[in-house]
Amino acid sequence: MFSVCGRRMPDVLRGARLFTDPTAGALDITVSDGVIVDIAAAGSATTGNVIDLDGLELMPGCIDSHVHPIHDETFATVAQAAVHGGVTTIANQLYPNADESTPDAIARMIRESEGGTADFAAHVRWDRARSTSDIAAAAAAGAVSIKVFLAHPDKSIQSSLGELATALSQAKAAGLLTLVHAELGDVVDELFAAGFGSQGSASEINQWRSPAIEAAAVNAAAVVSRAVESPLYIVHTSCEASMRAGTAARENGTELYVETCPHYLFLDVDQAPPGGQGFVLPPLRPRQDRDFMRSAAVAGSVDTLGSDHCGHGPRSKPVDSIAGAKAGLPGLEAMVPLIIDAAIGPDAWLPRHRAVEMLSSSAARIFGLDGKGSIGVGYDADIIAIDPMATQSLSSGLFHDAAGYTPYEGRSLSGQIEQVFRRGELVVSEGNAQSIGGGRFIRGSRRSSRSGVN
Ligand SMILES: [Zn+2]
Repeated sequence: MFSVCGRRMPDVLRGARLFTDPTAGALDITVSDGVIVDIAAAGSATTGNVIDLDGLELMPGCIDSHVHPIHDETFATVAQAAVHGGVTTIANQLYPNADESTPDAIARMIRESEGGTADFAAHVRWDRARSTSDIAAAAAAGAVSIKVFLAHPDKSIQSSLGELATALSQAKAAGLLTLVHAELGDVVDELFAAGFGSQGSASEINQWRSPAIEAAAVNAAAVVSRAVESPLYIVHTSCEASMRAGTAARENGTELYVETCPHYLFLDVDQAPPGGQGFVLPPLRPRQDRDFMRSAAVAGSVDTLGSDHCGHGPRSKPVDSIAGAKAGLPGLEAMVPLIIDAAIGPDAWLPRHRAVEMLSSSAARIFGLDGKGSIGVGYDADIIAIDPMATQSLSSGLFHDAAGYTPYEGRSLSGQIEQVFRRGELVVSEGNAQSIGGGRFIRGSRRSSRSGVN
């Protein structure tokens, strides 16, 4: 570390091009106190500690829209694993304890994130046991959203559509976004009681918790959202029917955002890992749904990507049976590499600018994460440097989560993350941690509305 007159000298990231515009010239990106202060042609910066990134391509650090730092992991371990996958900000699904106010839960998350490297934001679960004043309190404490479940195994957590209306209204008053887990919970429970899904194969679970049941919940939530004029964000959208419901709602003037997950873009029901390792809700879908989700990602009707990462260790994921398995897939460190390959690999299908929008810039805008999600002057220097010429084979042995497996084992991918900067600090280089800890809570500053309808 060099200093001039007691201040740290800026760093100059030299010689890389932007991932979104690789044919344009190489750049000098000057970073001071964690913030990008200048972008100019490579070689033109005269002051600073030069970091040579010649031949690499830069994208903003990923904002993973949907992470569960629970199960066999902690807030801190997830925030540490994340940066290895190019994720510099994680949006945690924060579940307040029964006796805990929302601000207390956020304070606990901040304490328990100590030692993690990625910055982090909070989606806070809301249910009928919580007072509506908790929603305003969540906003005041810096949450980016509240999350409402229309299906949940614990019925005290599942909300009715009336309760969703209450939550949406209160969230609107507080300037908060409302996230919805969209499945018709009462219907899936009745079907299960009638024997659906009891055999436990991935294809049977797809039929039990069907695309139509997910889409009906998207449609119902959108009707409520429009009625109370409060924006709606559908998490982990899995299938064509739901995308069509969401698009129809937008065409009716509903402010609706769509998140999907890597497993709905890179896996189908016939590729489900064995037994419990493939169990996720909504379930993996047929190939034609995967293909439709890809076309929606290309067209811009998918806004954000969330890994929906769940770090269940082997005890919760028996390979011989879905019975007894916990739902959820690991994906925190696989998501960015899979998307890079989808944009630059031999079978590329995703425009580069869409990759960056879905991985970072749209989440920053929708969640109101000021200073995040773009490589531009005034933004935090959260930057991934990618070697576009490298190839890699995904393996759980490379990952830092608690799962011990990846649904993408052995996939050969084009492009490799070489370096990861979080607020200008080099935190990962060639797969190795360079600096651990220092992740910060990022408060949401919502309320800009969706630009355009698609
Ligand atoms: Zn989730």
